[in-house]
Amino acid sequence: MEKSLIILKPDAVQRGLVGDIIKRFEMKGLKILGIKMTSLDSALLEAHYSHLTDKPFYKGLENFMKSSPVIVMAIEGFECVNSIRIILGATNPREAEAGTIRGDMAIGTGRNLVHASDSKENGKKEVARFFNDDELFSYDKSEYLHIYEGHERG
Ligand code: UDP
Ligand code: MG
Repeated sequence: MEKSLIILKPDAVQRGLVGDIIKRFEMKGLKILGIKMTSLDSALLEAHYSHLTDKPFYKGLENFMKSSPVIVMAIEGFECVNSIRIILGATNPREAEAGTIRGDMAIGTGRNLVHASDSKENGKKEVARFFNDDELFSYDKSEYLHIYEGHERG
């Protein structure tokens, strides 16, 4: 099963949207493998956003991501990386579809509430970057019978 690393960014924490955002992933039927509140430091952010460190907005992004604690989640589900990106909406919330988290709740690109992994490979890598093994839980979810067909459960 694919895994995705979700970060509820400082704007989600400060605006009191943590519950509403987590609710959307739970409603979809996705499984939470791990969840915690933490503060991000420069070294972790440089690794996480290594594709962006040379961009003019990077320093602002880094400072913003350090401006308050965040909630990080490891989520699992069948082809979940793509499903979760659809639930998030476009990076620029003004172009994100209504019904998505960013489309419904955000306006600024630098205040778009949530990070989610963008590929299966990055999902695996990012979950390992943000979680220790003993912070991730393996368990059965009884509702899977009503969310997946057998071949989708793997
Ligand atoms: N970002 C920004 N300005 C930009 C592009 C990106 O502030 O012009 C921020 C934004 O918060 C975004 C993050 O950098 O979520 C990571 O960018 P990426 O292209 O990976 O977008 P995402 O995968 O988050 O949709
Ligand atoms: Mg990205």
